[in-house]
Amino acid sequence: MVTIARAQDKSLTLESGKTSEPVKSAKPEAAPRAAKTAPRNSEFQHTLAGRVSLTGVGVHKNAPATVTLNPAEADTGIVFVRTDLADEVVMEATWRSVSATELCTVLAGANGATISTIEHLMAALRALEIDNALIEVDGPEMPIMDGSSAPFVEAIRQVGVLSQAARRSFVKVLKPVRVEIGDGWGELSPCATTRFEVEIDFELKPIGRQSIAFDLTPDVFADDFARARTFGRIQDVERLWKMGFALGASLENSIAVADDRVLNPEGTRWPDEFVRHKALDAVGDLALSGLPIRGLYRSYKGGHRINAAVLQALFADPTAYEIVPAPAHPRREQGHAEIAVAAAAYGPERG
Ligand SMILES: [Zn+2]
Repeated sequence: MVTIARAQDKSLTLESGKTSEPVKSAKPEAAPRAAKTAPRNSEFQHTLAGRVSLTGVGVHKNAPATVTLNPAEADTGIVFVRTDLADEVVMEATWRSVSATELCTVLAGANGATISTIEHLMAALRALEIDNALIEVDGPEMPIMDGSSAPFVEAIRQVGVLSQAARRSFVKVLKPVRVEIGDGWGELSPCATTRFEVEIDFELKPIGRQSIAFDLTPDVFADDFARARTFGRIQDVERLWKMGFALGASLENSIAVADDRVLNPEGTRWPDEFVRHKALDAVGDLALSGLPIRGLYRSYKGGHRINAAVLQALFADPTAYEIVPAPAHPRREQGHAEIAVAAAAYGPERG
């Protein structure tokens, strides 16, 4: 049974605009100053300092969708709730709940309930070091927003982050775990940081071969990855439309790529926006480990399916990982300050 603490008093709403720029707006009713300026300490768990909603359309069904991010108690993890169903179905955002990885990552819960396209929000939560949150969604799909993680990063930064009393743990990778599917592969291996090395290789000229490597930190993600949008070959999108999928996909929430050019009039946000988005997806999919990972994730021609398969392979082998508490920072004993003051007051004069 998961107990959820919801903050009722701080709420703001972001609407998905017609622009493809990240949502900058929000009502000026942000979290208290103390919450935003609270020191971030990786030793302890974090949750959101307030409640925030984002509204847009789901990319597959093109139906309006609202997601509300709520604070949650320590050790809750990230939990999704379908609020439109008679019995609110709760789904833990972990690899155990993943039911499909064809076009996006899908979580499944009781009675066949599912939530699709969670990966862009999961990437933002993980990158901004949110350990605990209750995510309410009013339908089977997350709003796609502009196709990136930027609106979610913006929303989290606007409500702020709270440090919690409970210690954080992480998954330490102890030996390489590799999965190959077709000509793509993914691999987790030991590393002192949380590192990603992602490479893609497309025949489409605007994409081609692109690679990127980085240590995941909140600032690196927010500055260099969050704004990277999802993308697709226009022929594939047209085929999906005919099959009744991707009905909400448009130039406002994805990059459409033809053999020789990008169809979006505004072009790309970076020349290598494609591999940046693949890296963003990998951050979100690996967040389904349920805890931060200390390890290097490398992928070549990867995607949701490979990302999920690597996590399953890791957790299938108890010798490949261990759960370890975050190292404690050296801290002064209570009363140390008084001693220090006394020492200063009666200490030898300087100079
Ligand atoms: Zn994506």
